[in-house]
Amino acid sequence: MPELPEVETIKRTLAPKIVGKTIYRVEVYLPKIIKNVSVAEFTRRVVGKEILALKRRGKYLLIDLSGKETVTVHLRMTGKLLILPNGSPKEKHTHAIFDFGDLELHFNDIRQFGGFSFEMPEIGPEPLDDEFTLEYLKTKLKASRKNLKAVLLDQKIIAGIGNIYADEILFEAGLSPKRIAAGLSEDEAEELFKAIRKVLTLGIEHRGTSIRDYVDAENQQGSFQRLLKVYGKNGSLCVRCNKVLIRERHAGRSTHYCPHCQK
Ligand SMILES: [Zn+2]
Repeated sequence: MPELPEVETIKRTLAPKIVGKTIYRVEVYLPKIIKNVSVAEFTRRVVGKEILALKRRGKYLLIDLSGKETVTVHLRMTGKLLILPNGSPKEKHTHAIFDFGDLELHFNDIRQFGGFSFEMPEIGPEPLDDEFTLEYLKTKLKASRKNLKAVLLDQKIIAGIGNIYADEILFEAGLSPKRIAAGLSEDEAEELFKAIRKVLTLGIEHRGTSIRDYVDAENQQGSFQRLLKVYGKNGSLCVRCNKVLIRERHAGRSTHYCPHCQK
């Protein structure tokens, strides 16, 4: 599933191609990808509009249009946005095409969980922005009886972290995913804060993680999968202590960690 670094990479590859362009035509082949409004209303509100800016909030991509409309795109499990030349063939899992005249934006989604909306849910601060501070994180940790894996995945506490980066962040911080958030010391909270920033920044620098089918808007894979230290590495040896990494279920999600050096 695309997380913050992947959606940020999609935004950065897409923006130079489509900002300033006008949407001349929209074809929707699978109505359920349009959320909260009908396909007819969606089409009416976007066709003829200019794309003013692309933004990201958490795992959502926001497309600002003229006429004060903002389209929210959520890629969920397998959604892809691909920029292609005009007239590119529709593929089996292409569910929508936005026509800009010379270029087209194709929305492909094998699992069909992603889609478009005019609404944006309430989510927590952006972890790489100034609004996300150590004090904020400490306050949220102290107030939670949940484990650290659950806290990192909670979009209302921090926006944009999913399963891959949560596991990598906890390894970087040397903290067990099973630890109860409220039980962290001041130093541990600071280690977690620094790890969140470091791992997500590295993820963006490496243009995201391609382990299944993630690609950016130019159909290019990321390279952060080469730097993963625990995610998907169960059975391998820990790069820090040379003992075996394990996988367990925590917060309802498959969780990869080192039971020896993540305390
Ligand atoms: Zn270890």
